[in-house]
Amino acid sequence: AKQGGKAGFVRYAEGMGEPVLAHMRLGGELRRALDDGEFRVVYQPIVRLDRNWVIGVEALVRWHHPTRGVVSPAEFIPAAERTGLIVPLGRFVLRETCRQAAAWLAEFGPDALKEAGLNVSARQLHDPDFVSDVADALTDSGLPCERLVLEVTESGVLRGQQISRALCELDRMGIRLALDDFGTGESSLSLLRAVPAAIVKLDKSFVDGIEIDDGRPAAADARQAVARAVIQLAHALGLDTVAEGIESAEQVAALLELGYTRGQGFYLAEPMPAAGVSRLLARQRAV
Ligand code: C2E
Ligand code: CA
Ligand code: CA
Ligand code: CA
Repeated sequence: AKQGGKAGFVRYAEGMGEPVLAHMRLGGELRRALDDGEFRVVYQPIVRLDRNWVIGVEALVRWHHPTRGVVSPAEFIPAAERTGLIVPLGRFVLRETCRQAAAWLAEFGPDALKEAGLNVSARQLHDPDFVSDVADALTDSGLPCERLVLEVTESGVLRGQQISRALCELDRMGIRLALDDFGTGESSLSLLRAVPAAIVKLDKSFVDGIEIDDGRPAAADARQAVARAVIQLAHALGLDTVAEGIESAEQVAALLELGYTRGQGFYLAEPMPAAGVSRLLARQRAV
């Protein structure tokens, strides 16, 4: 069986030329990097928009490459997904995030940090061990299940029985699911029916330009139409919202006016090492 797989892979590699070889090398590199502990998790605060108050974080992985420096996930997550390495890499992010969130909870108390979110790829949801990996990460860290948010995207979710079963089990365990990049896919609305979501994250593309007044009455402003529709939908379905990619005070004001209460973006706080979040939480505690 191994020989057959190998032959098929070689044919594919020949057909595709150099990029596939580069991808094979990257797959090996990723494995080595994981074994050598080159991946780190940074956390981007999710804040209350009306008072710039940290209420949660999203975990984002970084690769500290010995010669290339810090590599962004856009450059290696696709390869990690293709090679399957996203499964052990994702498990590392999951365990690290649960451990860190539990530490924050112990240090700053239950009101300081409502939730910690992390991104989950379709490949992970297809892994038959994913649900038990999550359960183990919660047990081992002591993080209560309602503090964990798993962010999934439409492309990650719409295919597969295995995935819906996994998502329903996670939901039953009390873990909250967030629909990431909401509004960008072709079937965001079907997704709401297919997935037991608790949170929708309004994609950055709908936040971009939201502050610009196009001269028309607010209700007819095309730039705000999707953001407005999403918050109405969320309210109707009892879902929480997070607006992503906020880069200015004007965008905060426009989102608050539309009814968004929580957001994330470089203007509010950039992704940072855990110690940076600890400093923010310590400052909030002192207030
Ligand atoms: P995402 O889940 O949509 O994460 C948000 C991305 O937007 C992050 O990029 C974040 O740094 C960036 N961002 C936040 N605020 C702003 C802003 O105001 N302006 C702009 N221009 N960007 C902003 P990052 O960390 O490079 O991650 C890119 C993507 O890689 C993530 O998009 C996610 O899809 C994926 N990713 C990151 N970490 C993981 C992981 O641990 N597992 C998986 N499966 N995917 C991950
Ligand atoms: Ca995300
Ligand atoms: Ca997103
Ligand atoms: Ca994205």
